[in-house]
Amino acid sequence: MKRFSDTDIWTKKPWFIELTPAEKCAFLFITAQCDSVGVWAQNFKLAEIVIGDSIDWESLLQKTNENIIVLENNKWWLPDFCYFQYGELDEKCRPHASYIRLLKQHNLLDRINAIQVDNNESTYTAKRSRVTQSKKIKIFSRDEHTCQYCGEQFKDDELEIDHVIPLSKNGDGGDENLVTACAMCNKQKSDKDPFVFIEQYKLENKILNRVSKILNTLQEKEKDKEKEKDKEKEKEKEKDAALYNAIKDSFESKHGQFDNYGKEGKAIKALIAKCRIRAPDYPEDFAKQVLETFWQLKQGRDKYWRGQPFLPSALNASGIWPRVLEEMREVIPDEFQESIAEEIPF
Ligand SMILES: [Zn+2]
Repeated sequence: MKRFSDTDIWTKKPWFIELTPAEKCAFLFITAQCDSVGVWAQNFKLAEIVIGDSIDWESLLQKTNENIIVLENNKWWLPDFCYFQYGELDEKCRPHASYIRLLKQHNLLDRINAIQVDNNESTYTAKRSRVTQSKKIKIFSRDEHTCQYCGEQFKDDELEIDHVIPLSKNGDGGDENLVTACAMCNKQKSDKDPFVFIEQYKLENKILNRVSKILNTLQEKEKDKEKEKDKEKEKEKEKDAALYNAIKDSFESKHGQFDNYGKEGKAIKALIAKCRIRAPDYPEDFAKQVLETFWQLKQGRDKYWRGQPFLPSALNASGIWPRVLEEMREVIPDEFQESIAEEIPF
């Protein structure tokens, strides 16, 4: 029997390239032994005898990703086989009729249609979902055979399944993200963001409960995320305030009165910000370490250091920051070493 073979498979399909020699053999064996719509009645023993090697079939399945699908009755299916051999199947095309018949026998006609839609409409094939026929039926009946976008009722063969949050935008294939949609709405929506789609086609007043609920949950989640972020920011502010006070105390114990709102105040804030960049996980420890080192240097013999004003006030003086960091290299805890390594000029 003659069949097309994919010449790209050896050089352009990473999943195939990464198979072991025996697994490559096994995959090609399946593409040769399957029936004319890509279904192989698995026969591991025969395959291993012919190939002359043992094969880890479970591992092969995993490595080939979605290029092999396990059906019931010990059958394996190459879902892209038909499209590759014949292109899009057309009922009006005579040679296709027998393939369509065979697909029906395997209960695969709906699945292959879904794949063809995917192949035509989107380049997003890595994560494409194949909604099984039984799942479709379940969801159509859950949604009372009504398109959840336009609110019209249709016969089942005019209905499709839509991922409200598209797979390409991190939606999942769970029932909660799947709704019934008429062919027209589904085509117009394609993999648009649901909010964008609803606005574009002015569906606000037509969308049904289920879609609204999903969108509400989505918005709630976004709001929660925002709140979380605000809380984090609040916490950081509190920490910064505590650090600010600690630095202020350190200054006053060694230097006298502190100018809260003048240049010292501003410089301390700048120091805290710098330490946040330097050591995001330990800005407080880092700032304290900088100060500690600075005070030690200032009390030492070096004229340069003795002449320096309080560190935060001197932050903009050229050379101070890198020199303090250089001095800190010896005493700095390991976790800060990396951030010290890349110099940020002050
Ligand atoms: Zn519709």
